[in-house]
Amino acid sequence: MRQKSHPTPVFPSRLPDVGTTVFTVMSALASKHQAINLGQGFPDFPCDRELISQVNAAMLADHNQYPPMAGITELRQGIAQKISALYGHDYDPDTEITITAGGTQGIMTAILSCVSPGDEVVIIEPAYDSYRPSIDLAGGKTVAVSLIAKRDDQGDVHSYGLPWDDLAKAINPKTRLIIINTPHNPTGMIWEKTDLDRLANLVRGSDTLILSDEVYEHMVFDGQHHASIASHPELAARSFLISSFGKTYHVTGWKIGFVAAPARMMQEFRKVHQFNVFTVNTPMQYGLAQYLQNPDHYLGLAAFYQAKRDYFRDGLKQTGLKLLPAPASYFQCVNYTKLDRPQAKMNEADFCTWLTTEIGVAAIPVSAFYAKPVESGVIRFCFAKQEQTLLAALQRLQTL
Ligand code: PMP
Repeated sequence: MRQKSHPTPVFPSRLPDVGTTVFTVMSALASKHQAINLGQGFPDFPCDRELISQVNAAMLADHNQYPPMAGITELRQGIAQKISALYGHDYDPDTEITITAGGTQGIMTAILSCVSPGDEVVIIEPAYDSYRPSIDLAGGKTVAVSLIAKRDDQGDVHSYGLPWDDLAKAINPKTRLIIINTPHNPTGMIWEKTDLDRLANLVRGSDTLILSDEVYEHMVFDGQHHASIASHPELAARSFLISSFGKTYHVTGWKIGFVAAPARMMQEFRKVHQFNVFTVNTPMQYGLAQYLQNPDHYLGLAAFYQAKRDYFRDGLKQTGLKLLPAPASYFQCVNYTKLDRPQAKMNEADFCTWLTTEIGVAAIPVSAFYAKPVESGVIRFCFAKQEQTLLAALQRLQTL
């Protein structure tokens, strides 16, 4: 017998402006058209078998029940040692580090723990897409400032700079939190120590907190160094540091990361965390705790990705696309507006759709990282791919 249908009650959306993300849309389009997917940011190569064995061994050793709410001690200790060795800040693993279900949960939880209705949160666009909805759910108000798009003689965007004047204007007594992201998705831009000093000047004496999204911390190229918020004692005292094992160990699907913050901030963070996910899967934590003991596993990442970046950039030079700098992360942005074909006049989203369906390579429009799309003729490729994938994509792009 068929069930009588009952109407769904009125259900106003808590996130009326949120639709399906451009990453999902582009990945679906790529698979429909058998395009090479350089859109969404994930590796197409396997993670280290040693890491899998270590997780496997943890499962077989019956580490399969709830771990402590903040994460297993061994992993938190390993993270504290790594941060101390690399950035010189000593977080207390008991009170200042929590294992999260990826960077995204860390970001959402940090925001929910400190932003109250009416508080303002400053973000810098183009920005990772989870910031704004997390702020909305907390009842906060997003105040977006834009990176300065620097243009060459022909009017094409060639690089980006931090918008110091706009940041100074955006910060006021209602500013609860400022979100920064270094290395930056999508542009690959990195903050330098002097930038952190300038940020410290802007917030000194206020109660404004910082959330520093550093999920690409180990992918900084050409001998440059990652300026972690943890390397700046004054800012570390008011900051949530976010990182993700998914990016560092080629396991984006495991959804595991961590947050570090001063004890008083972490205390509030954990209040939200324990009723959100409570804790994060146990065997992965044991496996990662062991894997983390060998620094080569993260210190070798910069050279590994730099080789991919160089290979991809060399190939892109044979196309009509103009390369933007790619100093860090696994993203390469290009400008397409000087291609000798009518599509050069398209907006970024239409160009990416055309590139996917007609040329067979998926990319992400940088305009999608703004709430109100800003058109600069720049799109983002992800080069976290095997050489053969990059080669196949380059062969198609060289027909442009
Ligand atoms: N921040 C940025 C800037 C990212 O690019 C990503 C992943 N795309 C995340 C956070 C989230 O990381 P995770 O997959 O660990 O949730």
